[in-house]
Amino acid sequence: MSIIGHLINGETQTEHSRLQDVFNPSTGKVATQVALAPKATVEQAISAAQAAFPAWRNTPVAKRAQIMFRYKSLLEENAERICELVGQQHGKIVHDAMGELTRGIENVEYACYAPELLKGEHSKNVGAGIDSWSEFQSLGVVAGITPFNFPVMVPMWMFPMAIMCGNTFVLKPSERDPSATLLIAELLHEAGLPNGVFNVVNGDKEAVDTLLSDSRVAAVSFVGSTPIAEYIYATATANGKRCQALGGAKNHAIIMPDADLDNAVNSLLGAAFGSSGERCMALSVAVTVGDDTADKLIAGLSDAMQSLKVGAYSNKENDFGPLITAEQRDKVAMYISSAEADGAKVVVDGRNPQVAGYPEGFYVGGTLIDHVTSNMKAYQEEIFGPVLCVVRVDSMEQGMQLINQHQFGNGTCLYTRDGEAARYFSDNIQVGMVGINVPLPVPVSSHSFGGWKRSLFGDLHAYGPDAVRFYTKRKTITQRWPSSSVREGVNFSFPS
Ligand code: NAD
Repeated sequence: MSIIGHLINGETQTEHSRLQDVFNPSTGKVATQVALAPKATVEQAISAAQAAFPAWRNTPVAKRAQIMFRYKSLLEENAERICELVGQQHGKIVHDAMGELTRGIENVEYACYAPELLKGEHSKNVGAGIDSWSEFQSLGVVAGITPFNFPVMVPMWMFPMAIMCGNTFVLKPSERDPSATLLIAELLHEAGLPNGVFNVVNGDKEAVDTLLSDSRVAAVSFVGSTPIAEYIYATATANGKRCQALGGAKNHAIIMPDADLDNAVNSLLGAAFGSSGERCMALSVAVTVGDDTADKLIAGLSDAMQSLKVGAYSNKENDFGPLITAEQRDKVAMYISSAEADGAKVVVDGRNPQVAGYPEGFYVGGTLIDHVTSNMKAYQEEIFGPVLCVVRVDSMEQGMQLINQHQFGNGTCLYTRDGEAARYFSDNIQVGMVGINVPLPVPVSSHSFGGWKRSLFGDLHAYGPDAVRFYTKRKTITQRWPSSSVREGVNFSFPS
């Protein structure tokens, strides 16, 4: 069995302190193994990035952009290979993987604007004969740590802009589905990136802790679950690093009595069950205003859910695939059982679905639970599975209060035909990304992505304009070239 290794200084390596099984979740079988990097291997990657930094920092930004243009074409040419690897190790259906890759490529396209984004700010004659400008300088070696659920897109939130800003990069992707991430790293080298500028180390806590403690790493971007995000942010900042750490979510949609219910049903299906609900922007709570709205929505959803197709990643007819591991499947089933034990009503039960030909795959079918209340564990915590909870309320205000009191604040959506209500909602809801009749309001690459509350630790959001700020430090230069005929007097007061 081949071992998935690391990509350091442009070369594949397989040093490991331990090996970990990588599954094909559709079959439930071990597909391959990944090398978990020991501290010394991570340090080697940091050294490679540090050695590559001076030349890369001084490479004109337009030249860096030419590599990114070639990279975009290579990603498009290799789209099928990339998506096949995502499907094999993550389990998402090939059409869903293609959506992920497309959103990743958007970030590569935005990074190609770096010559424009890094122009800086200039003010002439701020004082007599004095000019001043701000420029945005590279940080040095920066690190990214990414989750399993978007092995292609989430790394692309980070490294394209980071390296376009003149930094060198060490990426620690998820050890659960590492192959697609390694392939996109290889393609970046094929596009002409010099060795050492972008390095990938596979590993677990040992690798992550090395990145967090090594003084040569200037900044850390993290995306993953909230407990780990909190740990990464606390440790990285205590070690003097700049850090942004994006965490988990519980995304609510409020369905108003005036909403277009047919459209709401269709879009909720995709947003709740697409990718088996393993998206940080998945809608996992439908908040219905009034019992009549709840009853109609539940009737529409449970009808439509009869024809949901769960199955292997390779069949494009399937709507969604398995969960990432057997443990995650069991955890999702536990949350469904806990809601039931707490008094909620399981309207459509996805536990133990029969998937012909794949008896050992990690499947849970679409699940709809009514009469969920805010004191239930299944409501309070992120389930990360194909489970939609319905919470009944009497007014939009009551629904908003629920959302605002929740520990997470990643995404939310309001279904309505009322512009005034929509405006009030988007203005006052305590959530970072808001949709109005848009169930997954994932910002396009020219805006930035990030939640509020315990969905993000740090100040700057991911990708978009915030990424330029995160991956650079501002330097402001004030310059005067006095004429040789002018003799300056002594001045002890503060310059004004
Ligand atoms: P995870 O937190 O288990 O792992 C994320 C990364 O952290 C991985 O690279 C992993 O190796 C590393 N890691 C895990 N445990 C660690 C530890 N104890 N110490 C140091 N590093 C550790 O997350 P996951 O299960 O891979 O991904 C799913 C989670 O990510 C969900 O909670 C989801 O909401 C979240 N997510 C959030 C966003 C967002 O933008 N907010 C996007 C995607 C996923």
